[in-house]
Amino acid sequence: MKIFALNRTTDPAQAVATASKAKTAQQGAEIRFIGGGTTLIDLMKLNVEQPRTLIDINRLPLDKIEALPDGGLTIGAVARNSDLAFHPLVRKNYAVLSEAILSGASAQLRNMATTAGNLLQRTRCMYFRDTAMPCNKREPGSGCAAITGVNRSLAILGTSEHCIATNPSDMNVAMAALEATIHVRGPKGERSIPIGDFHMLPGNTPHRETVLEPGDLITHVTLPPPAPGNRSLYLKLRDRASYEFALASAAVVITAANGKISRARIALGGVGTKPWRSTDAENELNDQPATEAVFRNAAEAALRGAKPQSQNGFKVELAKRCLVHALKLATQSA
Ligand SMILES: Cc1cc2nc3c(=O)[nH]c(=O)nc-3n(C[C@H](O)[C@H](O)[C@H](O)COP(=O)(O)OP(=O)(O)OC[C@H]3O[C@@H](n4cnc5c(N)ncnc54)[C@H](O)[C@@H]3O)c2cc1C
Ligand code: SF4
Repeated sequence: MKIFALNRTTDPAQAVATASKAKTAQQGAEIRFIGGGTTLIDLMKLNVEQPRTLIDINRLPLDKIEALPDGGLTIGAVARNSDLAFHPLVRKNYAVLSEAILSGASAQLRNMATTAGNLLQRTRCMYFRDTAMPCNKREPGSGCAAITGVNRSLAILGTSEHCIATNPSDMNVAMAALEATIHVRGPKGERSIPIGDFHMLPGNTPHRETVLEPGDLITHVTLPPPAPGNRSLYLKLRDRASYEFALASAAVVITAANGKISRARIALGGVGTKPWRSTDAENELNDQPATEAVFRNAAEAALRGAKPQSQNGFKVELAKRCLVHALKLATQSA
């Protein structure tokens, strides 16, 4: 295996040129960027990923977290999850992002994990991680062992007959509610992708998880300025209190005054094949009183398309209650 370790003075174009020689940017890519390595190295140990070339981007000058002139925030691709969660501007203006990151993994993992790596972390579906089992995501056309097997932790929204894997990231859920934009540098130049368009539904190509093409390097993520007077919150429900992935989670960003909601942004985690923004829930909340009945309407709307499997039907009600409770907490005394 070849490892290219880039340094602070390397032009990111060099990383892009090397990676653009790969046949794909998806599952099985033979040339990979490596950030914290907490997803990629894990999967290499399991033989799920077998890249021949790694491009270590940790020393590229892509680690800044800074205010933008318009009041938004720019976050470098290799900024560590810990640095992002504890950044004063994130804690002040984007509390939901800080809470989401700190609810995930462990302090040691968050010290290593990068913003881009977290955006691209892979599913925890046990069959994906076991090369002895069929899995359309790992090996297209081999089948999906989870649909008739152990699927308690898997998705109920955005699934297909080919894959029901959950997107496991907490950070991605907050980024979806905050309407983040992902900035990419590729062989054909730079482009900006709204987070809602970045992750793909499995459909009949579950091995394609994002719109990235060979050579595409995530350089940074931007957040729009915080909505004036908003309150935001991340609520994560899981089997144990730490070091565990979400069974259901909710990121809410709400502006309310005198008991009335004027603006809502809602995303769910633990239940979708991608970070699950629900504009249906938002429509139920906008211009409505901040009452439990309205919150329940929003939760019903968010889960309307849910398709549970043999073991994960409990997630439908769990996700609804998670969203209702998050909304109650976020609007208390508003
Ligand atoms: C035990 C354990 C528990 C965990 N618990 C949680 C949890 O509760 N919640 C949660 O959200 N997460 C959890 N995680 C996942 C963790 O958050 C991710 O592993 C981490 O965020 C990945 O970031 P990284 O920088 O280490 O990625 P890497 O492993 O370095 O990279 C991941 C992928 O991104 C690609 N990549 C990296 N940087 C770039 C770039 N700039 N441009 C293009 N491609 C890039 C790599 O090629 C690779 O395919 C857990 C992980 C472990 C091991
Ligand atoms: S749910 Fe997706 S990742 Fe899991 S076995 Fe089926 S195809 Fe593979």
